[in-house]
Amino acid sequence: MTVMIVDDSCSSAELLQAQLVSVAEKKTTIYLDPKDALQACLQSMPDLVITDFVMPQMDGADFTKEFRKLKNNEDVPIIVVTTKEDRDTRLRCLHAGANDFLSKPVDEIELQARVRNMLKLRARSVALSRAISRLQDLATTDELTSVNNRRHFLEILRTEMNRAKRYNWPLSVAMVDADHFKQVNDRFGHAIGDNALAHLAHLFCESVRDHDAVGRLGGEEFALCLPVTSIERAKMVTERVRRRVAETGLRLPDGDELNLTVSIGLVQWQGVTEDSASFLARADRALYRAKERGRNRIEHD
Ligand SMILES: [Mg+2]
Repeated sequence: MTVMIVDDSCSSAELLQAQLVSVAEKKTTIYLDPKDALQACLQSMPDLVITDFVMPQMDGADFTKEFRKLKNNEDVPIIVVTTKEDRDTRLRCLHAGANDFLSKPVDEIELQARVRNMLKLRARSVALSRAISRLQDLATTDELTSVNNRRHFLEILRTEMNRAKRYNWPLSVAMVDADHFKQVNDRFGHAIGDNALAHLAHLFCESVRDHDAVGRLGGEEFALCLPVTSIERAKMVTERVRRRVAETGLRLPDGDELNLTVSIGLVQWQGVTEDSASFLARADRALYRAKERGRNRIEHD
């Protein structure tokens, strides 16, 4: 846990720092100029800010206001140290987003108690944000391959359809299915089969562009969402995917190499008259043709 002390007086800042040694494990940084403090927060957010109120560059309320505009500041508590006991000063600080006050001269025991409480709250909120982000990952990611799971891929596709409609942009989608995948499982077992799926997903992610989305729809079936992409551009992207898979074998534990290929069905969205289900169904039919016509190939409408 790190504490940032902002105070134009070097001696009061160092006194605070000395008093905090037992609570903050010496991880306190002093800033004599609040502007420098704000700048430093862009690099790394502290876990708690203790700021003086009366400073020549900007007062504690204005500093708090600026701090609350920074990214990821929401759960960082701010304590304002002030000699001014008047209600208006405190209200200004509270409105600006301060959480607590300390009166000068600072009582060491009270300072430590308040800092300890604030750091406890901060720790809880950091743990909570981590848990939420982990849950979001679990809800949106396919565990085996780390690409989007079916539900999240469909969400992305619908979002992109809305965007394509609003800006009148082309949008393409590709169904990608591993060829003869049942044989991989039958011959090498499910552990290698799982490795092969992760290997494919990795190659897909490497071959598509930054704004494209890869999803695993189930089994050995994947899909690519290609925003702002006409069928002509999409053919180039999917050809890169097809070739990459065909050229990149998976090294097996016994030293052998497993060579896989994929069949791809590619279609461009027809616009508002086509919903996501029929859009994907059309890609699925193109995929079926690719399978029928010999696999390791792309078919499109
Ligand atoms: Mg001062």
